[in-house]
Formats: sequence, C-alpha cells, structure tokens
Amino acid sequence: MSRNVETSERGRPGRRSRVIDARGCVFALCRLEDLPLDASAELREAVRKGNAHRWPTQLVGMAIGLVIGALLMALILWVFGIKFRAPMLSGLVGGLAAGVVGAQTRAAAAGKKAVAECLKGEVCPGCGYSLKGLEGRERVCPECGGVWTVGS
Ligand SMILES: [Zn+2]
Repeated sequence: MSRNVETSERGRPGRRSRVIDARGCVFALCRLEDLPLDASAELREAVRKGNAHRWPTQLVGMAIGLVIGALLMALILWVFGIKFRAPMLSGLVGGLAAGVVGAQTRAAAAGKKAVAECLKGEVCPGCGYSLKGLEGRERVCPECGGVWTVGS
C-alpha cells in the first residue's frame, strides 16, 4: 500500500511549497513554466496559486499593508489630535501577524490543491514532467525520480 501524497502542513512565505512523494521524499512544487504544453487551464491556475505566496508577492502585499496601516494611523492621530501611544502599535502588529498566518494557511491549501491537480492531470508535482503513458497508479517520474500515486 502506498501512502497518500501530501504537502507539508505549513506553507512558508518565500519558500517553494513543499510536496512529499509516496516514499516520503521532499520536492519543491513545480513552477508554472515547468508544466507540459498540454496542461489544462485548471492545472496551470492551481500551480500558479500554489506558488503565489513566494517572496515577491508576499513582500509587496506586506509593504502595501504597512503603508496603508501607518497612513491610517497618522490620519486618525491628526484628525482627533491625540498623541501617539505605544498600545496603538500593537493593533498594527497584530493585524500584520494575522495577515501572515492567514497567508501561510492559504499557501498550504493552495499547495495541496496544486498537487491534487498535478496528479489528476498526470503531471509530476515536483518538476512538471508529464507522467502520461507510464504504467500503474504509482509512477516514478523519469525526470526527478519522485514517486507519485495518480488517479486517486
Ligand atoms: Zn518529476
């Protein structure tokens, strides 16, 4: 019996989503440009989302959040003429932390979805190589050596 393919529980910002094959080997989720030309639109979308949490996207989102938060706070302080107090910062920090945790949860879910779509489309989740034409449900990727259970 083979183990189910799973992604790691935590998606980390800045890192490729980790995918674990049927033998327990860890691979990074394939990139959009690794997919075969005949990959379905759903598969492309799932892989794009699975990689969407990487640093550039994450950083831009955080920077925008911070600037808006800081501007809002400055505006509130100015409009109401109140003096800045340290506890106000905790709201900003808390909001940012919640955003990061939320992003990690979404990244893990997106990674799982990407792996499921890859296996459905008979594509190696680790390198994007097509697994079509290979025998059996458990397939060894000729490109990266990952073992994947397809059609589950
Ligand atoms: Zn592969």
